[in-house]
Amino acid sequence: MNSPVQQIKERLSIEEIVSSYIKLDRAGANLKAKCPFHNEKTPSFFVSPDRGSYYCFGCGASGDIFTFVEEFEGLDFKGALKLLADRAGIQLTAYNKENKEADNEKEKLYLAMEEATKFFENNLKSNKQAEEYLKSRGLEEKTIKDFRIGFAKLDWRELCFYLQKKGFSDIEIEKAGLAKKTEKAKSADGGSPDPQSGFRGMYDRFRGRIMFPISDSSGRIIAFSGRLFADDLSADRQVVSQAKYLNSPETPIFSKSSVLYGLDKAKESIRKNNFSIVVEGQFDLILSHQAGFKNTVATSGTALVDSDKSEDDTINNLGLISRLSQNIIFIFDSDKAGFAASMRTVPIVLKKLELYDMNVKATQIPEGMDPADLISKKGPDAWREVIRNSKHIIELLVDNYKLLNKNNDVLKSKLYINDKIIPYLAFINNPVKKSHFISLISNNSGISENDIRERLKKIEQELKYEKEEIEEAEESLAKMYRKDYIERRLAGIAFWKHDNELEKILGTVLEKYQEEKNDLIFEAEVFYQNSEDLAKEIAHLLGSLEIEKINEELLQKMQELHMIKDKAGEIKLLQEIQELNKKKHEKKEK
Ligand SMILES: [Zn+2]
Repeated sequence: MNSPVQQIKERLSIEEIVSSYIKLDRAGANLKAKCPFHNEKTPSFFVSPDRGSYYCFGCGASGDIFTFVEEFEGLDFKGALKLLADRAGIQLTAYNKENKEADNEKEKLYLAMEEATKFFENNLKSNKQAEEYLKSRGLEEKTIKDFRIGFAKLDWRELCFYLQKKGFSDIEIEKAGLAKKTEKAKSADGGSPDPQSGFRGMYDRFRGRIMFPISDSSGRIIAFSGRLFADDLSADRQVVSQAKYLNSPETPIFSKSSVLYGLDKAKESIRKNNFSIVVEGQFDLILSHQAGFKNTVATSGTALVDSDKSEDDTINNLGLISRLSQNIIFIFDSDKAGFAASMRTVPIVLKKLELYDMNVKATQIPEGMDPADLISKKGPDAWREVIRNSKHIIELLVDNYKLLNKNNDVLKSKLYINDKIIPYLAFINNPVKKSHFISLISNNSGISENDIRERLKKIEQELKYEKEEIEEAEESLAKMYRKDYIERRLAGIAFWKHDNELEKILGTVLEKYQEEKNDLIFEAEVFYQNSEDLAKEIAHLLGSLEIEKINEELLQKMQELHMIKDKAGEIKLLQEIQELNKKKHEKKEK
């Protein structure tokens, strides 16, 4: 029998898979699109239905349906396999059994999370109070089932016992983040597996909590968020001091910074509706889905922008949803502290998203409520109204300004424009958008557009240094990249045409690209199949490669020149640089 990978490839075409994520246009025998893996204005991403593969000339991304899904969804191979198998209607169970021995650690952790989810689901069925609580929050039975919500009893070792009986080791249970070791067990742990002391030394991490499973984008459970169950508070004092929400720790299968909750259920709808809604809590997320807004994801406590984490993580967080749609709506808390907190994170989000020319909107919900309250008390229509009222963040800030101004606090409101609103403008790259907001601010504040532009110029000047640094780094990267790019193309032609002469010239360069041979042949075909004079193209590429090599040498000599102290050495270096420049010009003339 064919392997599942082959079966899936027979049933799902590359065209079908890629076009379910991005829009493809026909280009001869191939299809093209703007690359989903790097930022670009003109399409350089090609899909070849004949070969069942894709290739990007801009960033070099390449592969088949599996790598595409891995990269687009941020999954590992097994995750992509699960997702595509589900889609192709192929059962993977037989495959899993055959490979049980070969299963790696991660696979075991996924299985442990799945078993734990079932365990918590069953607990909920036998715990009327917890179930009643969920219903009182507005959750329907079907929703509880769909989101696989469960319950962890106020017990120290129930889950540990259950998983041990199912064949999981203490180490696996602990690594999955489901149990903790007591201090005593830690110090006594000499490494010998003694099941008796194992029972005594471990205790469940989640106790007396409503359990929300968190999935990756293929639907595998990777973590839990447990909400303290209030009715049990009095039963055990231990719980009183605990946090309202407890999330799984970082584990080999769960990285907090790269997960948006509900994404597995939301991605389809985000693409279809062409916008995503970002809320904060689990209940907000689930009730928004229940109200028909399946394009909702949640940051769930882990702030979207964490001061401990880099800005890149923020974009990781937003990566998939921003690839699925350019339009994002953030729902901010209506209370003052919440709004202020959101506003601290917004510049970072805005900066990144505006650079990609994304359309970021935000909205506040009526005072004293969160989305979950609003939906359960006022219904889906009230929620729809909130979403409909979303505005660009600058407009939202201008609204806030109007409130300040109403209180006749002239100085305060002017400072607000100066310190809070105009700095945001500096992040907006799109000139049309920028002009629009300048006149909006001017119309609302009476400050002339000229004055706003002056102030903006000053801020942009301050930002300039930062921007220049980024540009410089990018430029040197592009230079490095250019040599690689030329080499890749030449290697592709050599492989494609079995060009002995070219192979000899390239020598060891070819070895570097052996593994990517098929991709490079595809690339060469797309580029040169209609070329009238391939020999001329090759000569041109070889010429460019020579120049790039000289450039590299030049760069190195220039750096040496900065460091050198003695006069004689300096003169020698200068001569060498002159030689190289001459050589470069001669090459260019050819
Ligand atoms: Zn690309």
